[in-house]
Amino acid sequence: MATQQKIKIGVLTSGGDAQGMNAAVRAVVRTGISRGCDVYAIYEGYEGMIQGGPLIRPMSWDSVGGILQRGGTVIGTARSAAFRTREGRRQAAANLLAHGIDRLVVIGGDGSLTGADLFRREWPELLQELVAAGVIDATTAACHPFLGIVGLVGSIDNDFAGTDMTIGADTALHRITEALDSITSTAASHQRTFVIEVMGRNCGYLALMGAISGGADWVFIPEHPPEVDDWQTQMCDALRAGRQSGRRDSLVVVAEGAQDRHGAPITAEDVRRVLEERLGEDTRVTILGHVQRGGVPSAFDRWMSTLIGYTAVEELLSTTPEREPQLIGIRENRITSTPLMQCVAETRGVAEAIAARDYERAMALRGGSFGEAYRTFGTLVQSRPPQPGTAARPMRFAVIHSGGPAPGMNTAVRVAVRLGVDHGHTMLGIRNGFQGFIDGEIAEMNWMSVSGWATIGGAELGTNRKVPEGGELYAIARNIERHNIHGLLMIGGISGYEACHRLVAQRTIFPAFNIPIICLPATIDNNLPGSELSIGADTALNSIVEAVDRIKQSAVASRRCFIVEVMGRDCGYLALLGGLATGAERVYLPEEGVTLRHLQADLDEMIAAFKRGKRLSLIIRNERVNPVYSTSFICDLFEEEGGKLFEVRQSILGHLQQGGNPSPFDRIQATRLAAKCIEFLIDRAAHGRPEGAFIGYKGGRVQTLSLDDFPRMMEPNHARPREQWWLDLRAVAGALRHPPADARG
Ligand code: ADP
Repeated sequence: MATQQKIKIGVLTSGGDAQGMNAAVRAVVRTGISRGCDVYAIYEGYEGMIQGGPLIRPMSWDSVGGILQRGGTVIGTARSAAFRTREGRRQAAANLLAHGIDRLVVIGGDGSLTGADLFRREWPELLQELVAAGVIDATTAACHPFLGIVGLVGSIDNDFAGTDMTIGADTALHRITEALDSITSTAASHQRTFVIEVMGRNCGYLALMGAISGGADWVFIPEHPPEVDDWQTQMCDALRAGRQSGRRDSLVVVAEGAQDRHGAPITAEDVRRVLEERLGEDTRVTILGHVQRGGVPSAFDRWMSTLIGYTAVEELLSTTPEREPQLIGIRENRITSTPLMQCVAETRGVAEAIAARDYERAMALRGGSFGEAYRTFGTLVQSRPPQPGTAARPMRFAVIHSGGPAPGMNTAVRVAVRLGVDHGHTMLGIRNGFQGFIDGEIAEMNWMSVSGWATIGGAELGTNRKVPEGGELYAIARNIERHNIHGLLMIGGISGYEACHRLVAQRTIFPAFNIPIICLPATIDNNLPGSELSIGADTALNSIVEAVDRIKQSAVASRRCFIVEVMGRDCGYLALLGGLATGAERVYLPEEGVTLRHLQADLDEMIAAFKRGKRLSLIIRNERVNPVYSTSFICDLFEEEGGKLFEVRQSILGHLQQGGNPSPFDRIQATRLAAKCIEFLIDRAAHGRPEGAFIGYKGGRVQTLSLDDFPRMMEPNHARPREQWWLDLRAVAGALRHPPADARG
């Protein structure tokens, strides 16, 4: 009797390599195996598909172990001229059929994905040709009537329609930001100017976001050439004025594909020459080149690629000959699928618009937030700091922190102060949170007082968890009056939200609180309502990933289980996303708690896995999962029960998670949100509307909600919002936990 044929999936990486490809391959292989498929890695891209033999290899659960943290692509990538020919594709089809493969996950750029689509369309004809040539028999051809394909975009440029982020772009931004941070310190020491060229032929994403996160002074991108023909004078005037107002260095970022309005290239060398000739400054060029492809993948590239790899398999299993092939991407924090060739066409549309010098269209195709980021950057590099008090109705706005330190707080203050001053208002900094507000630690800040703050971790203004009460509110009201404060921006966590809510609630008693107040979410815990992500959480995830990489490396010689405790208070975001990004087998979340029964089941799983030959096991536990089943309790329990089979070690990561310089993502989000907050304060104060609000991202958009809603949006008795989008990702973590029983070696 004929048995149901197993579905056989091939996965390949093609075109340029990108960090995170390994995470995607790992997720494809493990999800495929969990869903009862055979998964094959096709080494060296399409070249391996054409050569076949050992370049098409079945993968086991363990063969993708330990690759999540590796850079590049372990299955290799190549460009293949042969795949552009029909003979080449016919040979590729024959090699796939030799293994019964008729589903493909292709990870690459637009060339690779276009090639995949062509291959899919030709498949039935290629099979007929193979039958005619006697390479395969008619039954084989009949068993594989169509080729299912799904595309994932691996490209460091982030130049693709259909996904907000491509695999590798975030890591490349990390490398660029690290380089800019390093260059800034030497540039400032010698009062030098640096011109840095970054990748991006048709896409200014890396240049613009790198410039924002590195606190650069000027940027050139392909989609938005300088508006004036004499860009040289415009740039030199701006940089000269910046130096006159006290900057010790100048940093100019140039995308590879930068050009002027007439399509003539603007190269890093052109910029250097202009700066040396006109400003007489010692100017150096640094071309970052392949550094941008190097290093280890960022936390985001690990978890995002894991999610889209998982979804790619789900898509392949449900595809039909009629369904258009899909591209799996991420949009607004959700995994999405979009018709593949529509994405390829839109992507090419940007390149065509640039070639046709239709820059408005090119910017429009990039999407709204790109244009907004460009405008914000433009204001931030304004080099003639306007004098405070020059607005039609000059106002005084204060900035305060509250809660634990979150990397990115300084970035947000810098943007708020500069934009406020730029609009002709006076900006005040309140030191040491609400305690400082009570004590009157309030001082004016100017353009230069936040110089260098774009990049440094911690909170220069100081922060703590103080929530004012009783007579302290009176002291705050007095200070608002004394300093004539027209609006308040709180950048921080839950205690700040509570404090601001209290001020708003006490307005009838203290009329001084009748000013616009806005909260900007900044906490590594990501436990605030109204925002899917808070500033600092991405940096903390990167710190966790970096620490776990080291912990794993320390365990080369023995069979070991690590229990890593992460922060997050009552919110499991860091634990779950940290688990996805590090490949943890188990995560303990405060939303789920843990019982003795869970621990027993996990222990049984672990014993079985180590008996099968497992060498390393990783568990991530949130700090507040359960007061009794503490990290050291679980550690002792597993150690005792594991006997000689494995050792158990605990690692409580602690405050390293709150430290470190902010990640590029946190710097960019802090910049965008702070810009919106200042807009809000200026508008509400000008219109005499003393609203209390909190801002955040939902579905990729910035939203502003009323502080009156804050308590209702929180879970009772727990410091976390009722709605947490990321809880849905538990299914993926579950699927990648253990091999199913029939796939165990
Ligand atoms: P990327 O995928 O990063 O854009 P390339 O454009 O170099 O990189 O494409 C990678 C490989 O994909 C090529 O070497 C070739 O084998 C295949 N490929 C690209 N374009 C096509 C096409 N139009 N038809 C068939 N194969 C293609």
